[in-house]
Amino acid sequence: MKLFTSFQTHFGVCMTYEVINTLVNSCKNEIIRFLQDLIRAESYNPPGNEAKVAKVIADKLQEVGIEYQIIESAPRRANIIFTADFGGSKTVLFNGHMDVVPPGDLSKWEHDPLSAALVDGRVYGRGATDMKGGLASMIMSIILYMRSEALLKETAGRVIMAATADEEMNSDYGLKYLADVRGDALRADYAVIGEPTGINGMGKTLVIGEKGDYELHVKIHGRKAHSSIPSLGVNAVELACDFVHNLKKLKLPKVKPPIPEHELIRRFAAKAAQIKDTSFRTRLTEYIKALTENIYSATMISGGFKANVIPDECEVVIDFRVLPGLKLEEVTSAVKELLNDLGIKEYGITVPVVFEPSVLEGGGELIEAVREGARKYYGDDPVVTIGSGASDARILRNKLGIKTVLFGPGYGELAHSDNEYVEVEDVLRATKVYMYVIHNLLSRSKNSRL
Ligand SMILES: [Zn+2]
Repeated sequence: MKLFTSFQTHFGVCMTYEVINTLVNSCKNEIIRFLQDLIRAESYNPPGNEAKVAKVIADKLQEVGIEYQIIESAPRRANIIFTADFGGSKTVLFNGHMDVVPPGDLSKWEHDPLSAALVDGRVYGRGATDMKGGLASMIMSIILYMRSEALLKETAGRVIMAATADEEMNSDYGLKYLADVRGDALRADYAVIGEPTGINGMGKTLVIGEKGDYELHVKIHGRKAHSSIPSLGVNAVELACDFVHNLKKLKLPKVKPPIPEHELIRRFAAKAAQIKDTSFRTRLTEYIKALTENIYSATMISGGFKANVIPDECEVVIDFRVLPGLKLEEVTSAVKELLNDLGIKEYGITVPVVFEPSVLEGGGELIEAVREGARKYYGDDPVVTIGSGASDARILRNKLGIKTVLFGPGYGELAHSDNEYVEVEDVLRATKVYMYVIHNLLSRSKNSRL
């Protein structure tokens, strides 16, 4: 009996693999066309214009008979949500942003950034990698899933798709807005964001956490005086320089990186061995270091207004890239302590930019589902890692408490670059992985055991 069950399970898994594979391959042209339509809908942010992309998605959903909701956060700024309900409460959320960064100097583009030109198995255009490729894959994975009787009868649960605005700025009109006004519509057990997580030549990564970004503006005050008798004043520029010189003495609390450095080195080493370029390895070493340390730099300084006046104000901007676990208050109090140690009494601190760090807590089953899918359809185990930059995952994890990972088509290094492209094969594979993830996490037999 036991043997029979395991045979059944194994047989089932093989069947699922084939069903998904065949379905996606047979719909290749439909997927590419949809991706091209998404790229051609201009959504440069600033200013945004995501409503144009939402319209392309809405048209597609109308064509296949799926209901949706468009939630406008401002004129021309839109978010679009739809749900595939297979009966059952377990819920997977797919999220992706519809805005893209502006193309910059057009003369540097070989194909127009809005052309979505299909050349040698690649689709070119602004956002192809970041992240209209991921959007196309996620949305098509749900549409195709709903077409398969074989998959549907094994599935119990819900899939929500939320295509959102404004991720390239700070999500005020996108996921942050949506979480505030429609948090109920986003409630899910698991989330996958389809940001590009490939590294060219090294395969895919699966990103389970990300560093945060705190931008501290420290304004140091002094006292004006004539520069012929500087001792009558207090020179804010000199105090600020003293502060910058001593920044390395900042006593930040120790936090453990989510994945230790030696472990990341081990995980990346096997893949990096295939790459001959030694400068790549140096960059990789620096990258791994950045993922395991709190990093900060004084990035801007401004003070003084006339050559013969002792300046009474000088502002230093320090950009902190922090590991999950390091709180903003801990950073500001360490800065205050240093200022105090240096005898700088008059100052003000403002923090206009805060991207909280975040990390997946638990969620082993989500990691396994994506990992298995990637293994099957990319033929390679993705490196489970954390990310150096911020994404909307922080909102899903920290604000909505959803177990969230990033996995998607495209190479991270092509995001925001000239001649951005995504490989068609990558988009098809990611579509298959997402379908596999739905099947795995919402499997009827698995959920009935829970
Ligand atoms: Zn992105």
